[in-house]
Amino acid sequence: MNLRVHSYESFGAVDGPGIRLVVFLQGCPLRCIFCHNPDTWAADKGTETPVEEIVRKARRMRPYLGNDGGVTFSGGEPLMQAEAVLEATKALQAEGFHVAIDTSGGIDSEAAYALLDAADLILLDVKAPDPERFREVTGVSQEANRRVFDHLRETRKPVWIRQVVAEGLNDTPAERAATEAYIAGLNVQRIDRLPYHELGLHKYEELGIPYRGAALRPPKKEALR
Ligand code: SF4
Repeated sequence: MNLRVHSYESFGAVDGPGIRLVVFLQGCPLRCIFCHNPDTWAADKGTETPVEEIVRKARRMRPYLGNDGGVTFSGGEPLMQAEAVLEATKALQAEGFHVAIDTSGGIDSEAAYALLDAADLILLDVKAPDPERFREVTGVSQEANRRVFDHLRETRKPVWIRQVVAEGLNDTPAERAATEAYIAGLNVQRIDRLPYHELGLHKYEELGIPYRGAALRPPKKEALR
């Protein structure tokens, strides 16, 4: 099968344990207010890439990935291409690579669950614990997201939680408590609160897409502790 690839990062150090080949996939069903990769949204763009090519890339990088590293599928939203990513995941694991999936958990198809089950680690984005706020932040309903979180609870899959924190969005103690309640019961191995930044804003201008996050600001340090 083929994957639609947006881009690669060959020495990723923040998307899972160790040094990683990060494969950024094309296509995302969400429209997050703070997204700095709007160029990944369109599902019909990117480069059609056979699974075998990804495996070959990982093989070439094996000396750098070492025992701790591996391959991370990020996006965009990897669950949008769940069947092909599952095939790639199994092929990589058969050669001893650790595979992580970086997802917002916004798709609850059978194929998505099969991929979540097969992956070694899920990097799980928390968009917003409150359903109304979730829709405001992502543009879509929270229902699929809640079901995916429940599935990850049931399967005890190891997860790293990631949350973008912005002043004026979710930097209060009450928002933090609500997030902690939303992730309760998950097999959480690590939590990263990532400061909102404006590095991707030029992409909105280039794509001619209005930026919805103009009122957001980077958080104060205390909000990230
Ligand atoms: S899930 Fe990620 S790629 Fe998709 S809109 Fe949100 S921040 Fe952007």
